[in-house]
Amino acid sequence: MENKRVAVVGGGLGALSGAIRLARLGFSVQLFEKNPKIGGKVNEAVLDGYRFDTGASLLTMPFVIDELFDFAGFNRADYLDFVSIDPICRYFFSDGSVMDASADKAKMKAAIQELSPDDVEAYERFLKYAERIHTLTSEIFMFTPIHEFKKLMKPRHFQTLFKLHQIDPFRTVHQSVSRFFSDRRLIQLFDRYATYNGSDPFQAPATLNIIPYVEYGLGGYYVKGGIYRLVEALMKVACELGVQVHTSAKVEKICHERKRVSGVRVNGKKVEADYVLCGADAVVAYNELIDGHHKPRERLNRLEPSVSGMVFLWGVRAKHPKLAHHNIIFSSDYDAEFKQIFKHRQVPDEPTIYIAITSKADAEHAPAAGENWFVLLNMPYITPGQIWEKERDRMRSVVWEKLKRLGFDIADQIEVEQVYTPEDFSELYASNQGSIYGISSNSKTTAFRRIPNRSRTFHGLYFAGGSVHPGGGIPLVILSGKMAVTLIAEDQEK
Ligand SMILES: Cc1cc2nc3c(=O)[nH]c(=O)nc-3n(C[C@H](O)[C@H](O)[C@H](O)COP(=O)(O)OP(=O)(O)OC[C@H]3O[C@@H](n4cnc5c(N)ncnc54)[C@H](O)[C@@H]3O)c2cc1C
Repeated sequence: MENKRVAVVGGGLGALSGAIRLARLGFSVQLFEKNPKIGGKVNEAVLDGYRFDTGASLLTMPFVIDELFDFAGFNRADYLDFVSIDPICRYFFSDGSVMDASADKAKMKAAIQELSPDDVEAYERFLKYAERIHTLTSEIFMFTPIHEFKKLMKPRHFQTLFKLHQIDPFRTVHQSVSRFFSDRRLIQLFDRYATYNGSDPFQAPATLNIIPYVEYGLGGYYVKGGIYRLVEALMKVACELGVQVHTSAKVEKICHERKRVSGVRVNGKKVEADYVLCGADAVVAYNELIDGHHKPRERLNRLEPSVSGMVFLWGVRAKHPKLAHHNIIFSSDYDAEFKQIFKHRQVPDEPTIYIAITSKADAEHAPAAGENWFVLLNMPYITPGQIWEKERDRMRSVVWEKLKRLGFDIADQIEVEQVYTPEDFSELYASNQGSIYGISSNSKTTAFRRIPNRSRTFHGLYFAGGSVHPGGGIPLVILSGKMAVTLIAEDQEK
């Protein structure tokens, strides 16, 4: 019997990891990426001797990648070196205090002791609480395609379904964090984890407090050489398994006949396929790639996108030893920052500034006397009326000014610059309104309203990536690829 053919749309990590699994299962796989380079939001830029990761900078749950390599029949350690990061992040608070956060419990407690002695015991309790949410929810929300009724209704899931109140869905992240900690700086620090999937800590359900457990309980990692090495390694594995990868190949349509997909149209030509695995943003795909199907499209367009971002890549001609590999310079009013972003869809007047400097770990990423700064600001998703060129220039000045006040006067040290605005994220990666994590988790029901991994309307159509279940971030999109492929394999056997 001939191998069944799968057309994979997009070369982000959800799709690429899915393509690997499909090839390993014996499917004949063609992957189409519209850009000249694979990787989507995990990407790389080299500018005048400075090398940058342009998207993701922190890796969590590396075991998800190990499992992918195992499944594919390869040994991850032969391809990639994961380095545990300590401190995971250096926090600069608006009152001038600085704290190093660590997954090493003793170090973290010592850091909290220095900042707010009364909160040391609270940290112990908070971690236990976050671990409990993880224990109760990870199987259902991270490893199961929850829209598949039969898979959800397994006896092992009942304990979660019956103990829903224990996963804290009715309070917001901020309300719950504030019940544990008394120090407003620590509240801000732990609130921040809602942004890991692009959400607002003042709206998102406290179930997202699973994220600090993932970081402090399981650790934060860097990929030696840069996060983009992950994409390169997966490309090698995909090619070894026979995936045919086409770059600069935009899928113009996902073709269907009588509610069954029949292939994709690329460069005006139809490529026949038995299944389509779409790793492009699912909202954009339903709007632009899939004809017909108006009702679900309207519903999807009502889902709130995640935050977007503004990224400055700066080649800095100086060393800044007071900065760590990962740094956060907090705004003085987090609530106001998120109100501007989500409620008013405005560029925040005083953004929190994230700075990642991989040359701290890999010296060759910058010239000997310099550093490669990746600077990320949370931004609203695209809304009519925003003028991003103007905002880019305003934000550059705001960031420089704030850094100068902290003793990092870099304006005259910048040798090269590249900037990505929400419009760039929208154009480069075809992400819905420039969102960088797909759909926000600002409502209690988002986990269930996220787009399923298998289309309910079109037979043979499956989805992976940050806009579908279980959500955005490197490990989760790889898990989405796994879920979609499991469903394809099961459907093939029917
Ligand atoms: C600035 C930034 C910082 C981040 N930081 C982190 C972090 O520290 N840690 C973390 O875990 N995650 C982080 N993330 C999120 C993470 O990078 C993403 O969730 C993840 O990489 C998205 O993968 P995906 O599978 O959804 O595909 P995407 O990366 O969205 O890629 C989709 C691909 O499909 C292609 N495509 C779209 N339409 C078509 C078409 N019609 N035809 C062909 N190709 C098409 C696009 O060009 C793109 O390459 C960050 C993201 C950004 C942008």
